[in-house]
Amino acid sequence: MHTPRCNHATGDVADYANAAIAAGLSEIGMSDHSPMPDDFDKPWRMDRTELPEYLQEVEQVRDIVKDQLDLRVGLEADFHPGTQAYVAEMIASYAWDYVIGSVHYIGDWGFDNPDTIQIWDTWKIEDAYCAYFKLVEQSAQSGMFDIIGHPDLIKKFGHRPPADSVPVNQAIESMLQAVKQADVVLEISSAGLRKPVAEIYPHTRIVQRAAELAIPFSYGSDAHSPNEVGHGMKECLSMLESFSIHEIASFKQRQRTMIAIQHA
Ligand SMILES: [Zn+2]
Ligand SMILES: [Zn+2]
Repeated sequence: MHTPRCNHATGDVADYANAAIAAGLSEIGMSDHSPMPDDFDKPWRMDRTELPEYLQEVEQVRDIVKDQLDLRVGLEADFHPGTQAYVAEMIASYAWDYVIGSVHYIGDWGFDNPDTIQIWDTWKIEDAYCAYFKLVEQSAQSGMFDIIGHPDLIKKFGHRPPADSVPVNQAIESMLQAVKQADVVLEISSAGLRKPVAEIYPHTRIVQRAAELAIPFSYGSDAHSPNEVGHGMKECLSMLESFSIHEIASFKQRQRTMIAIQHA
C-alpha cells in the first residue's frame, strides 16, 4: 500500500493502519513506489531523500499500533532494464520486510499511465503483451524481489489479445516457469477491479496455471487511499481457494512464511 510520498496517493500511514484495524485485519504492509534514478519518471514516486522519513513514519506507526496490528514495511520497486544496480543498492540499504517488483514500463512507455494511453494505438496488442511478460519474467530472474506485483497489469485499460494467441500464451507460460524457478511469490491484487479492465490481477487462467505449478501467492489491495485497504480481499482469496490454494505468503525481514487463509 502507498503513501502520499509517491505523489498519487492520499492518507498518512496511521490512516491506513486505522483502516486495517477497523476492517479486522491483523497484518498489513506499506510498500510505496520506490525512488528510481533521477531521470526516470520522477513524478510517480518518492524522492530518494524521502526514504529515511518514509521509514521513520512507518516505524513510528508500527510501534503505536503493535498490539492490534502487525505493520510491515517494504517497497514497490520498478523492474526496468538498466536500473538494476540502483535498485539493488537501494534494496540493500535497509532491512525491508519485503520488496515487490513491478513492471510499469515497456522501454520508456508507461503503458499503465492514462496520460500516455494513446501510445497503445501504435502497438499490436499481442506484441505489447509479449514484451510485458518478458519483462516480468526477467524481473523474477533478477533475484531482487520477493513478490511479483500485479502480474498482468498490461490489461489495465482492457486491451486484450485473442485468448488463443500462441505467442502470448507462450510468454505467460515462460514467465510462470521463471517465477517457479526463482521461487518468488505472485501477487493477487484487487487493484484491477478498480480499473477499466474491472478484473483481478492476474487473470483466472494465470492463477490456475500458477496453482498447478505450486507457485505461492500474496494478497494486495494496492491501496492508494485508506478506504481501499483490504478492498476485494474476499474475491481474491476466493479465487485462490477455487484452485485449491489455501494459504498466502507473509514476509518479515524478507523471510517468507505461509499463513492459512482465514474465513470471516
Ligand atoms: Zn501507484
Ligand atoms: Zn504498481
